[in-house]
Amino acid sequence: MWPIWKKKYPVILPSGKHGMSNAYVDREVLDILARLRKNGFEAYLVGGCIRDILLGKKVKDFDIVTDAHPRQIKRLFKRCFLIGKRFRLAHVYVSGDKFVEVATFRALVDPEEIKPDGRRYAENNVFGNIEEDAQRRDFTINALYYNSADSSIEDYTGGLEDIKKKRLRSIGDPVKRFRDDPVRIIRAGRFCAQLGFTLPRREMNAALKCAPFIAEANSNRLLEELYKILRCGASAKTFANLNSYGILPLWIPELTGKKFRESLQKRLEVVDGRRQRGQEITTAVLFTALFFDLFEDSAGDLGERAGHQDVFGAIRKHFNDMAVRMRLPRKEWDKIANIAARLWTFKKYSARKRMRGEARFVQNPYFEEALRFFEIYAETAGGLEAELKFWWQRESEIARPLPQVRGNAPTPHLAANGGAKRPKPSHPHAQPKKQDQNTNQIQAQDHPSGDNAEQPKKRRRRRPRRRKPPGQAQAPQSIQA
Ligand code: ATP
Ligand code: MG
Repeated sequence: MWPIWKKKYPVILPSGKHGMSNAYVDREVLDILARLRKNGFEAYLVGGCIRDILLGKKVKDFDIVTDAHPRQIKRLFKRCFLIGKRFRLAHVYVSGDKFVEVATFRALVDPEEIKPDGRRYAENNVFGNIEEDAQRRDFTINALYYNSADSSIEDYTGGLEDIKKKRLRSIGDPVKRFRDDPVRIIRAGRFCAQLGFTLPRREMNAALKCAPFIAEANSNRLLEELYKILRCGASAKTFANLNSYGILPLWIPELTGKKFRESLQKRLEVVDGRRQRGQEITTAVLFTALFFDLFEDSAGDLGERAGHQDVFGAIRKHFNDMAVRMRLPRKEWDKIANIAARLWTFKKYSARKRMRGEARFVQNPYFEEALRFFEIYAETAGGLEAELKFWWQRESEIARPLPQVRGNAPTPHLAANGGAKRPKPSHPHAQPKKQDQNTNQIQAQDHPSGDNAEQPKKRRRRRPRRRKPPGQAQAPQSIQA
């Protein structure tokens, strides 16, 4: 019998009693943890990385939490940038484009919250201790803390048991938590699909009740979640979950038409299969796969009658409002419409019926991604083998200009071969690409709205230096991101 005053949490699992160890963690991440500890701070790994390792899944990124305050973190690491306004996070760079996010334990107070006297909470009050930090997280399975010094796991909310039971439990009252942040409902749909977990009845009812709050959620965060869903390898199941929680019709009503559901489901399963095999699919191709039924429906027979420019125009015209509402970056939206519009051309022509202006079509910058989408489409539709074979052949025969690279950043597919050669077509005969590496927060590639990986980095133009007027001191330039 436990004595009645015995606290239930934290449960501390020592090394060897669980499946997590330092062997799964990148060297650079362990070094950051060690340096924080050496300087007298607490430091843990937290969140998705522990959950995924315990479940035997591939880790996407490592997140660190500590009791060191942002400025103290910054002082410890040479290449460290503080981001965020009220609650500041540190990005500690371990190489040119790789960083690890280091956050200070959060207090239960919301950094954006206003005190009864109308003032904001002082910076120090938004930082808390490990127990408070755990309470602020979304689900119990995401609130496990790993101490790399002794390889123990600290559990403050019952996440270890929930992992065993494969259930996704909210921390605290799910109605309150989902109302405070309805994006958590979307995350629930994804985690259940991705991990094969069930959503307990309490959470399910709360999701149904709080779904309408999604209208108040920040569009950029929603877009980020959508992108995560499309990449997660379980997008078909995630959308089915979100539909059953009643949130999909309120979030993306266009996708819930009965007419589209079946073919969308099939296409997403093809996308998921490819993602599970580690294939990289660009953002634009993923979004085209998501919306293609809508485009196809609105294009009617225009695709058969007219060229891709006309279809492009029709798609842009009919769905521009949707793209604006979803905050799709303009460049990305252009690409999506261009990729989708080319599908009819792929279907219309083959070795039997040649296209006029074939070389120009192949040399177009949208061709490659459009063909990648056609591969996905053909896999679901079936019966397009001859057309696929023809276009693969044309892709390999017709020389295409290298994508323009401004600045000195090579596009990722070119980086693999030193930026020298045209990339090989990645049709299904080709070897699947290696799984995404265990790298941390490679934002450029992951961010739908930021610099997309396939786009060359823009080099900022320097402003000409102004002369300092005599006697006027210049404000120090901070290098915060
Ligand atoms: P994945 O990387 O697969 O999305 P993750 O759990 O690592 O899973 P992140 O978005 O990387 O998700 O967030 C890291 C951690 O931050 C989460 O594990 C969770 O503890 C916390 N977190 C993220 N979003 C929320 C949220 N909306 N509310 C509360 N805590 C959150
Ligand atoms: Mg993560």
